[in-house]
This record gives sequence, structure tokens and C-alpha cells, in this order.
Amino acid sequence: MQKLRFDRADGRYVLFYAFDESLPAIVETAEQERGIDQVELRWNPVLAEQVIVSTGRQGRTFLPPAEHCPLCPTLSEDAFATEVPAARYELAVFENRFPSFRPDAPTVDDESALYGRMRASGRCEVVLYSPLHEATLSSLPESQVRHLVDVWCDRYGELAMTEGVSYVFVFENRGKEIGVTLTHPHGQIYAFPFVPPQVQQEQAAAFVHFQKTARCLQCDIVAEEIAGGSRVIASEQGFVAYVPFAARLPYEVYVAATAHRESLLELLPVERDGLARLLRRVQSAYDALWGFPMPYTMSMHQRATDGVQRAGDHLHIEFMPPYRTKDKLKYLAGVETGAGTFINDTAPEACAAELRASLVRAEDGR
Ligand SMILES: [Zn+2]
Ligand SMILES: [Zn+2]
Ligand SMILES: [Zn+2]
Repeated sequence: MQKLRFDRADGRYVLFYAFDESLPAIVETAEQERGIDQVELRWNPVLAEQVIVSTGRQGRTFLPPAEHCPLCPTLSEDAFATEVPAARYELAVFENRFPSFRPDAPTVDDESALYGRMRASGRCEVVLYSPLHEATLSSLPESQVRHLVDVWCDRYGELAMTEGVSYVFVFENRGKEIGVTLTHPHGQIYAFPFVPPQVQQEQAAAFVHFQKTARCLQCDIVAEEIAGGSRVIASEQGFVAYVPFAARLPYEVYVAATAHRESLLELLPVERDGLARLLRRVQSAYDALWGFPMPYTMSMHQRATDGVQRAGDHLHIEFMPPYRTKDKLKYLAGVETGAGTFINDTAPEACAAELRASLVRAEDGR
């Protein structure tokens, strides 16, 4: 893997990753102005959690036509200048123009003893899976998804070493239903200055399990799913995909390391291969389910980077689709948003069976 860093005049970096080809040449274009919008963390004392206030995000490009896609290559000095200053690339990463966290976030003061503010320091990166505008994880060659896993490993490793980064959150929003504003295949990475609450809740549950059993919770879950099998969708070397026993949402899928791996960095090369294959297969199963690209959020959970050693950190990826049937969205309503308890209208075992059948259709139809 070769890597090239280019620093833009507006202070943001772009990283090019080359695997099969040489690194691309930079196409110099005029830089757009980039303002500092209000970006800060506000402490919500009622729930004891941080909220990101980032007003610049309102100005984001919203579903531009393909010829003005900011994630496609910049073809020449005179062509439309995208976020990627090169006429070609294999995989690329750049700092988000509309970040929730930024290294140069302004310093802030508390409003009162009750209302605390914190600097929104950190990084927000965009990860481009492919230069091809119409590609998806499952349509990309397996080698390209494998390279994506290598890029994730590189970003996790580098951001983990960055001063003040407590959590490296790798994720993808897919589909307009999720609020995606750009359709070009991409994911994101947020380098958080704190450990986000969902992760803290998982850490607390894993700690309780460890105290009781002296074992890793995710290792036990994976063993039980594989032994039972009714909720398993597919497996590859080092990873298994399954619908959780108590899935919050219909068609929710977890992809977990079958051996105890705290983060991407502990994966063996064959396990990186297995992860790439399984991610493609999960997306194939989703897309063949109802015959359209399934929207989802994909969230990767792994070891926090705040320097605290915790029992039970275990790499897994959570897919959350917003549909409960082919034409019905699952809305989060009062019981979910006001009481925090999810009502799942489907049986996880039935969803797993449907996804298994869907995967067979997808793979037979090739
Ligand atoms: Zn594009
Ligand atoms: Zn484990
Ligand atoms: Zn998790």
C-alpha cells in the first residue's frame, strides 16, 4: 500500500491510497473559501451527554447531479473542482468540509455552572470507496473492499495516536432515507474527543459480564450464535454475520470477529480478507431482499483510544436498516425516542431466514 498526503490551501488534508496502480498526480485548482462556523460541544445535564452543535453543516451540498459530485475525481485544472484534486484515484480520504469536529475548533467557555461547553476538537474524515460514482460495496471487486479494510486500519491506527482522540468511529450512512446528501460510495470516520454514549453503554454491559464470568461478552455471544445457528446469515474466515437475539430494528445485522480481536489492528491478513468478503455478502443479501439498494447505517465498534484498558472490547460492525417491510419505513416514535425502548415488529429469527434466502438468490443470480 502506498500513501500520499496532500495539504490543501484551506488547511485540510487529502490522502491518496494506491494498491494496484501508482499514486496519482495532484490537479491544482483554485481553493474555495472555508469559514469557521459555530462548532462546539454542549453538555446536556439531563442525560449527562454531549451534543455537537455544528451550524456549518446546514450549508452542505444536497444531492448534486452526478457531473457536480464533489467525491468524483477532478478531471483537469479547468474541470469542476471536486474534493479530490486528482484525475484518478483508487481509494482516498479527505477532511470533511462541513465537520462536526475539527483540529482548529474555537475555544469555548461554559455558559454557566449548569451549562458546560467543550471544544469540538477532533477530526471528521470522508473515506471514498471507489472513484466510480455508481459503485456500491457489493458491486465493487472483492480486492477493492479488501483495500478499504486496509485503509480503515491505517486511519484507525493513525487517528488513535492523535492527541486528544478518545474514540475512532468508522461508519457509513447509505441511502436518502438515512439522510445521505451524496450518493457516491463513501463512508466516514469521526475521531471523537470523548467516548460516545452508545459505546459507553456497551462497555458497561461488557464489564458487568466480565465481572460475572471472566469472559468477553462478544466472544460469548458469537459462540452462542454460531452454536445455535438460527440467526446466522453467513460467515467467512474470522467473521460471522447474524441478526442479534434482541435486535432493536427489523433486519438489523451484526458482523463480529469470531476470535477475540479488540480492534482492526489485531486482525490477521486472512481475517481482513474474511471481513471484506462478508461485508460484500451482507450488502448483497440486503440488496436482493427487496430488489433495491437497502439503506442503512453501518457502525463499527472497537477499542476506544483514550488509553483506558477495558475488558470486553471486541470488534464488531452493526448494520441498521430503516425499513420494516419493502414499502414501510420504521419510524422511531414515542416509545423509542421518549422512553428509549425499541419495539421490533419482526422476529429476529424470521429476518435472519429471509436474509439467508436473499443471499442465496443474490449469489445464484451472479
Ligand atoms: Zn461521484
Ligand atoms: Zn471477545
Ligand atoms: Zn456495538
